[in-house]
Amino acid sequence: MDYPGNLFVVAAPSGAGKSSLVKALLELDSRVQPSVSHTTRPPRGQEKHGREYFFVSQPEFDAMVAGQAFVEWAHVHGNRYGTSRKAIEERIAEGADVILEIDFQGAIQVKEIFANAILIFILPPSWEELRSRLERRGEDSAEVIDLRLKNAAEEMAQARKFDFVIINELFERALFDLKAVVHAQRLKYAAQRRARADTFHSLNID
Ligand code: GDP
Ligand code: ADP
Ligand code: 5GP
Repeated sequence: MDYPGNLFVVAAPSGAGKSSLVKALLELDSRVQPSVSHTTRPPRGQEKHGREYFFVSQPEFDAMVAGQAFVEWAHVHGNRYGTSRKAIEERIAEGADVILEIDFQGAIQVKEIFANAILIFILPPSWEELRSRLERRGEDSAEVIDLRLKNAAEEMAQARKFDFVIINELFERALFDLKAVVHAQRLKYAAQRRARADTFHSLNID
């Protein structure tokens, strides 16, 4: 199915800077809308239901799986996370650009359903920096950080399946790269043909 809006999918090992980059992109570009996932993980610090995630119980999550509410869902770091179909399908059909911030298993499932989805993998510049960002973020216990670092090797091995790779060393540089990927999709023939129909018409091209 070909939708007028773009579906961007961003994955990265925990601590690579995925949330910070997506948040900065959303502040700069009002045409990109986030999709809020459902999770069985408890909220961290300042997180609010419906903003970062819809925080649901195990039975509520089970009911959504049974009701086929999810485009994809996965076990990540001992919790379950899922993207609801409603959160994306209507919006890309209306021409909005939607961005998903999900783990690599989910990203690959999304590409199977939405073949035109654009998969972007964020890498940290080094293992040392990845650990120190997780420690500096100060949101996770030492055991959770160790688990997330242990999972990071397996996650980063999946980067080859993605369309784009951004190395988040200097934040501004990585944000520039992310903006470039978003911008490039809007310059594709079909997108320009839709967005600039009058220009195409006046130039007698279709
Ligand atoms: P390149 O470094 O040779 O690929 O040249 P570019 O034109 O891609 O970018 C030059 C530098 O300017 C890079 O470090 C970019 O991150 C930075 N840059 C360019 N445009 C922007 C922008 O809109 N915002 C920010 N924050 N940095 C930018
Ligand atoms: P993720 O969503 O991938 O788990 P976050 O966006 O929460 O990662 O980033 C992890 C931590 O690293 C945060 O404290 C964030 O402020 C910091 N961070 C993100 N990008 C950079 C960067 N380029 N340089 C230094 N610190 C960064
Ligand atoms: P965190 O608990 O740090 O917010 O997220 C942990 C991991 O779960 C991250 O890799 C994040 O991308 C992933 N995640 C968040 N939402 C979803 C989702 O809807 N589906 C999948 N598959 N992964 C998700």
